Amino acid sequence: MQGQKRILITGAAGFLGSHLCDRFIQEGYYVIGMDNLITGDLKNIQHLFSRQDFEFFHHDVSGFVHVPGNLDYILHFASPASPIDYLKIPIQTLKVGSLGTHNLLGLARVKKARILVASTSEVYGDPLVHPQHEDYWGHVNCIGPRGVYDEAKRFQEAITMAYHKVHHLETRIVRIFNTYGPRMRLNDGRALPAFIGQALRGENLTVFGDGSQTRSFCYVDDLIEGVYRLLLSDYHLPVNIGNPDEVSILDFAKEIIRLTGTDQTIEFKPLPEDDPKQRQPDITRAREILGWEPHVSRKEGLKTTYDYFRNLSREDWYNSEYRNFT
Ligand code: UDP
Repeated sequence: MQGQKRILITGAAGFLGSHLCDRFIQEGYYVIGMDNLITGDLKNIQHLFSRQDFEFFHHDVSGFVHVPGNLDYILHFASPASPIDYLKIPIQTLKVGSLGTHNLLGLARVKKARILVASTSEVYGDPLVHPQHEDYWGHVNCIGPRGVYDEAKRFQEAITMAYHKVHHLETRIVRIFNTYGPRMRLNDGRALPAFIGQALRGENLTVFGDGSQTRSFCYVDDLIEGVYRLLLSDYHLPVNIGNPDEVSILDFAKEIIRLTGTDQTIEFKPLPEDDPKQRQPDITRAREILGWEPHVSRKEGLKTTYDYFRNLSREDWYNSEYRNFT
């Protein structure tokens, strides 16, 4: 179609990437998805394969990235994003945030495309400032288990800003806080899929530590709207996107018990090293610059997400085997 905007989305088969593919197709874009499928799953985008306005490249962006034709936009969402993922594949995590980002910035330059990179609340580490505003520099243990993800994303922000300054590239940086919704992996180890998976299988819910650590969970549709607005804005500094509705992990587990009606109980397990004690986005900037704020309550979002997981096959519920990384 003449005049149709073309967008490259990396991590297209992942949780957020696949929702972004859907959104940009809905907005009339031609979407080129790319994924190396180490944590992504083609099932998330299989409904797009028959479309004329979608194509997919099975490729690892940590190696040279070639895309035929012009590009208007690039969204870099490829990365392992769950703590158990980056513990198992630390080097891939470091490479996709650093080398992968470098390759995509180079591609953006050649194509004269605007690029948005997915950063994270993990750039704030185990924060000493609460809630976290974009001006806070963070508190990260670079050699701890989360360091591979945190530092890759911090490098990603640094190189993106450098390309903006030196090459005048149009860049956008979104700092994503905990997000949930359909297409998360039931076995990805994060609190929400872990608790719902345990409830579905009739197991106890495993709360790490005493459960007093907090998180603020954003429903995926709200997150995608924030990313969409940021991409089309003219703002190049980092913007937090997340839901400030903060909850302790213990209360969150109790919410899942009520939602699922499971007769199982809570089992306490040791707190992983460097697990952040509190996390809540300050979204003043997103409100002011993008006119964005979340609309889906946790109650509503959890219900939709639970329905999604419940309707997966029993095989999916019990398939906790970790993928084989090579
Ligand atoms: N958590 C938990 N039980 C689980 C999985 C996670 O208590 O089975 C805790 C985890 O220690 C952390 C919080 O839930 O404090 C959120 O963890 P998640 O992996 O979802 O993401 P994070 O925000 O830590 O990156």
